[in-house]
Amino acid sequence: MKDASSAARGSAPDDPPPLAIQVDHMRCAGNAMCLALAPGVFAHNHWRQSEVVDPEGDALEDVLEAAGNCPTSAITVSDASTGEVLFP
Ligand code: SF4
Repeated sequence: MKDASSAARGSAPDDPPPLAIQVDHMRCAGNAMCLALAPGVFAHNHWRQSEVVDPEGDALEDVLEAAGNCPTSAITVSDASTGEVLFP
């Protein structure tokens, strides 16, 4: 099992930024909204909380949509190379 915080991706000029995606398990209510919107990135763990299984699993816009639709604001998305917070 991978950690809930992960970073990866290439570095060509037109590539999307490498993402660091975190799920705050103190907030995650397990409603699976993020799994529906970015199923390649998020999956439920044994305790039905979301974890990042592949930070490259979906497009950045899908990851941001998932983060923006999390009802408990549990998801944080950053550019792993610069530290810039992309959401919230
Ligand atoms: S949308 Fe938010 S509350 Fe729902 S499973 Fe994902 S991280 Fe947890």
